[in-house]
Amino acid sequence: MAPSISAATSAVSNQPSVDKGISIVSEATCEAVVGRADAFTAVENVFAAMARGDAYNFPVVREAIGHADALYGFKSGFDRAGMTLGVKSGGYWPGNVVKNLTNHQSTVILFDPDTGKLKSIVGGNYLTAVRTAASSAVSIAHLARKDAKVLAMVGAGHQSTFQLRAAVEQRNFEKVIAWNPHPEYLPRLAKVCEELGLPFKSVEREQLGAEADVIITITSAFEPLIMKEWIKPGTHIACMGTDTKGKQEVDPALLAAATLFTDEVEQSITIGEAQHAVTSGAIKAEDITPIGEVINGTHSGRTSDEEITLFDGTGVGLQDLAVASAAARLADEKGLSNQINL
Ligand code: NAD
Repeated sequence: MAPSISAATSAVSNQPSVDKGISIVSEATCEAVVGRADAFTAVENVFAAMARGDAYNFPVVREAIGHADALYGFKSGFDRAGMTLGVKSGGYWPGNVVKNLTNHQSTVILFDPDTGKLKSIVGGNYLTAVRTAASSAVSIAHLARKDAKVLAMVGAGHQSTFQLRAAVEQRNFEKVIAWNPHPEYLPRLAKVCEELGLPFKSVEREQLGAEADVIITITSAFEPLIMKEWIKPGTHIACMGTDTKGKQEVDPALLAAATLFTDEVEQSITIGEAQHAVTSGAIKAEDITPIGEVINGTHSGRTSDEEITLFDGTGVGLQDLAVASAAARLADEKGLSNQINL
């Protein structure tokens, strides 16, 4: 959301702009140039900028277009610290799977904040997965117990392998356990664990919490899958699947018992996992801390080994702009972007 301070305070460059043309960065180039470390840095920096009031997201537009059952929208924002201005446009086309396309389709368009001139057009599909994985990874890096050994995955869809790969880099995990409403998808996670040399075990969801030190939920659920009484003290949970009104992955009582963090409080209480606990009165918006405050050192984050921490990762447009900006820069540096002039 736009802070009260701002636009007027930003320094606009008076240098004549050098016309560098417009960079077009394909999906394949994004995959080639943006690694997990690049995405982690971009997302951590933009969360920090949001918490300082240096970056803000504009209101999200998301509409059913009345064609192809599609949901289409825009996520936009401005990061003054990273000098990134732009919009991610796209949505969800459920019929794409039979056309051999992913159902989620998006493209990021970046503009020069000094002039408004179009700078880059960047494929957004791979970047959405890698920035969402970076978000939960940032939460694990800052909030999970340092001695966390067991990572639990709830969900085994498209996003889940990105989540798993980014998460295991944050702690010395010795084992991965998983549960999914559709168990037939679990081999997808087992395969990544085999590649990473990590033992993998599928478990019943009632048992998952007894073993897990860190849990990532990344499903399309509309009802709680994980209950508070199954979770042991000291667990860190990253709830990543709930990004729309009505979706829900965990018991609201778990949010009431946990210390709560999010990317953006406004999204957390309206379209994120916290929406249900806020509606029922179990928690208030003031109970939720932007994770950027932990990154900036203005909030202490986890304060004991017994505390349950929960990160509500709702997915903000600034994350998309941050990773797209990194993709455009890296592609330009490596000569992999296509340059055009309008
Ligand atoms: P996917 O369709 O590939 O996988 C869906 C997952 O949810 C699978 O594990 C599936 O078994 C499970 N599932 C499907 N229907 C369910 C139901 N009715 N109840 C419980 N579980 C169900 O989707 P994906 O691309 O892996 O995305 C997973 C979720 O993450 C979606 O809800 C998506 O909107 C969300 N998402 C969030 C962000 C963010 O920034 N927070 C970003 C991208 C995707």
